[in-house]
Amino acid sequence: MPSSSASPPWMIRASVLRDISLVAQKNHPNEFIALLGVGEKSSHVVSELVYVPFESGRTFSGLYSELIPFDELVVGTVHSHPSPSAFPSDADLNVFSRMGRVHLIIAYPYSPQSIRAYSSKGKPISLRTV
Ligand code: ZN
Repeated sequence: MPSSSASPPWMIRASVLRDISLVAQKNHPNEFIALLGVGEKSSHVVSELVYVPFESGRTFSGLYSELIPFDELVVGTVHSHPSPSAFPSDADLNVFSRMGRVHLIIAYPYSPQSIRAYSSKGKPISLRTV
């Protein structure tokens, strides 16, 4: 059976990881959500955070999907969980399936170690910092 490792691994710039951690802390105890961008088509290196309007609370965050600049340089989403669990909720899985190929969840206390990456199907995938 072909495994998902056939596609190149996702990487993320350390500076983007740092930004995610800072924004998550700033929004605590609410969630935040943003989009992940790459520098060029077919790149697997997440090199920017794309901020979009969102609504959030302690247990949810939602995007105004009509305002999302969804182009080929946007590869997925990132959002925070104000709890120590980085497991995707059913609502998260629904978003993952609709919005790109790589999805990050950063859980409290929002350190680079508390971030997890998932595929559009909600399967854990590896994420290397570069
Ligand atoms: Zn979530």
